[in-house]
Amino acid sequence: MELSEKATVDSVPKELFIDGSWKKSSDGKSFKVEDPATRDVIGEVADATVDDALAALEAAHLAQESWGRTAPRLRAEMLRKAYELTIAHQDELALLMTLEMGKPLSESRGEVLYAAEFLRWFSEEAVRIKGEYYMGPEGSMKILTQRQPVGPSYMITPWNFPLAMATRKLGPALAAGCTTIVKPAELTPLTMAAFFRILEEVGVPNGVVNLIHTSDPGAVSVSLMNDTRLRKLSFTGSTEVGRLLMSQASNNLLRLSMELGGNAPLIVFEDADLDKAVQGAMLAKLRNTGEACTSANRIFVQRGVAEEFSLALKSRFEALKVGRGTDAGVEVGPLVEQAALDKVQRLVTDARSRGARIVAGGGSFGPGYFFEPTIVLGVDSTFEIANEEIFGPVAALYVFDTEEEVIKLANSTPYGLVAYLFTENLNRALRVVERLETGMVGVNQGLVSNAAGPFGGVKHSGFGREGGFEGIDEYLYVKYAAINAAAL
Ligand code: NAD
Repeated sequence: MELSEKATVDSVPKELFIDGSWKKSSDGKSFKVEDPATRDVIGEVADATVDDALAALEAAHLAQESWGRTAPRLRAEMLRKAYELTIAHQDELALLMTLEMGKPLSESRGEVLYAAEFLRWFSEEAVRIKGEYYMGPEGSMKILTQRQPVGPSYMITPWNFPLAMATRKLGPALAAGCTTIVKPAELTPLTMAAFFRILEEVGVPNGVVNLIHTSDPGAVSVSLMNDTRLRKLSFTGSTEVGRLLMSQASNNLLRLSMELGGNAPLIVFEDADLDKAVQGAMLAKLRNTGEACTSANRIFVQRGVAEEFSLALKSRFEALKVGRGTDAGVEVGPLVEQAALDKVQRLVTDARSRGARIVAGGGSFGPGYFFEPTIVLGVDSTFEIANEEIFGPVAALYVFDTEEEVIKLANSTPYGLVAYLFTENLNRALRVVERLETGMVGVNQGLVSNAAGPFGGVKHSGFGREGGFEGIDEYLYVKYAAINAAAL
């Protein structure tokens, strides 16, 4: 049965979730949420104040002691139930996501599954938090280590993956025994509110999960970070805001995880399977309408296959259906807001003015923030498009000659989140993987995201890992006890 858009939005709580109940903002204010495909206002949510944020922190602080001591199996079972309910609510969550951020419904459904996997994975990790017990080298003492919850954790998430960027943090934090405060992006608060309904249904104890959406993230976040009851900040967003938060978090010496921006290279060698490479480039470039930190920002193609590759990519781009994400068959949605559209337009205009050729797309259209899937040929590393996140459906193609040259080009960016490479030569693949300065590499595939893999970057793409066996360590600290062995 097709869901009604209005009824689905109406069913979402519009308040803040603090200490186990839904509450209006303390000053009664709210802010609006827009559909980027139509520019229509689709809802309005409570606008958290500093007082609301501090009330959430107080709740998280009070709940920490008992939540941290809850049996791991119980925490695991709550996460497992949250996983099952998220899957059961896939249709509503996906529709909300498409309505507030624009991606095609099929991709939103994919994000719900991806997001749910973090709940399942960390439900399995909750019961495997281990320590060690061993003799010190001198033989006079025993060393006992245990991993304990860091404590109340503040999570700031971006609009581009409204559900998964939060479950990637909530899953490990809850598994580790930390209490939490989530602050979604102001462009996309509805999906997270619907998810908190699920956490409420699961029966997560009061104060363990809190939700504050606000139109003033700066003031709210500083007040939380300056309070010694807070122990951790996990941020996913732009490098610029990450840098600011890192300096603000230094007052209180918070534990930090930073998942920041990217400038991913995608490299196609002459010995690649070209069908695989084109397929991988489509996914790495256009997933999420190009609005992903992992999006292939620079596509390097070796000279011998450059023409064949660009022609194949062009025919795929030109066949794409662009439109409102809720419409049947749509593969590329609108950008999220006017500023995003202006940025993409600026990057394409700059490339054109420096002599690059636009071989597909290049234009924008309404009523929403639509930009045509676009291919820009003949780019070099001095262009604006080579040095900024495009965050849109624009493929920038570069031609290279040698492996040595492309490794240097790929690494010549302050970012280091992910890279992709396509080759059928195993030695070359392993050699290049080793030399790329990124936290992740896709080999003959255009997607690395998986709850079982450690997602994260190096250099200006941040630090910390989400998912994998490493993800839970972001929410644990190691306590060591030195035990007098003679007394045993
Ligand atoms: P953004 O940095 O503008 O905002 C991210 C979040 O930070 C939002 O919740 C926003 O409200 C909040 N924020 C903004 N200013 C703040 C301040 N002064 N104090 C506290 N919070 C503040 O980023 P965005 O536009 O929402 O998201 C896109 C960016 O996120 C891109 O750079 C993308 O690469 C990055 N991203 C990274 C990853 C990753 O895992 N590395 C994943 C997704 C997105």
